Amino acid sequence: MASEQQIQLVIMSLARFRACQNCGTRFRFGDLDCPHCGLDLEPCLRDWAAALLEELGISRTSS
Ligand SMILES: [Zn+2]
Repeated sequence: MASEQQIQLVIMSLARFRACQNCGTRFRFGDLDCPHCGLDLEPCLRDWAAALLEELGISRTSS
């Protein structure tokens, strides 16, 4: 079960993931590419997700 601290970390992570790194356009969480410049956001999403898992103390399984 998630602890209160883990829940807070996830909410804070959602708040910091919100702008295109290429043109600065703000996008909705869940967008897979930028609505303005079309930049593929998947690499950004992967970095964000990996950082979040690390903060939560969940190590990635080796692929
Ligand atoms: Zn963009």
